[in-house]
Amino acid sequence: MEIKIMFKLVSDLLLHRKFVFEEGSVTLFNIPISIIPTNFIVLLQKELDKKGLDNLVYQVAKINGKEWFRSMDKDYQLKTKDVMQWGPDLISLAGWGKVTVRTKKDSEKSLIVLLEKSANAIVYGPSDKPIDHFFRGLVCGAWSYVYGEDLDAIETKCLARGDNACEFLLMPKNRFDLSNQEIKTQLM
Ligand SMILES: [Zn+2]
Repeated sequence: MEIKIMFKLVSDLLLHRKFVFEEGSVTLFNIPISIIPTNFIVLLQKELDKKGLDNLVYQVAKINGKEWFRSMDKDYQLKTKDVMQWGPDLISLAGWGKVTVRTKKDSEKSLIVLLEKSANAIVYGPSDKPIDHFFRGLVCGAWSYVYGEDLDAIETKCLARGDNACEFLLMPKNRFDLSNQEIKTQLM
């Protein structure tokens, strides 16, 4: 997102009281938010990884994404086109990276989402497996809500693993091939 568009987005959100700053509190679409260092999530994930529990970040972010969109829908009656428009803008504004929806098949409830310049991947550093569990969970939860179906998401490319960008495949839970070990690891 260009810087000019970014400022327009922030001013629109402020104008319509969707982004509210009060002393000691910030809310975005009625949800309390706080700015935390990217490194916090990265450090937390690395500690969880040592115990084989890093995918908890995905599972929790998925619940979070679903609840966030349910709450935004309740307060603002979101349409799919709003999610397509606002979702990537909010993620860019939040400093998580640049998002593009690549392929979207509504009939199959599946989509491919591209995340460029993933902040988590850059801070995480080189890894032999994909690491964007937080984003993967949030986007999966959001689309699970939009499609009214329990989706899952896997990260098929990751900047931290040496790919040019991160790429995610989202589709209904039962369509993933769990005999593939790499897929199974991301969904357990
Ligand atoms: Zn990644």
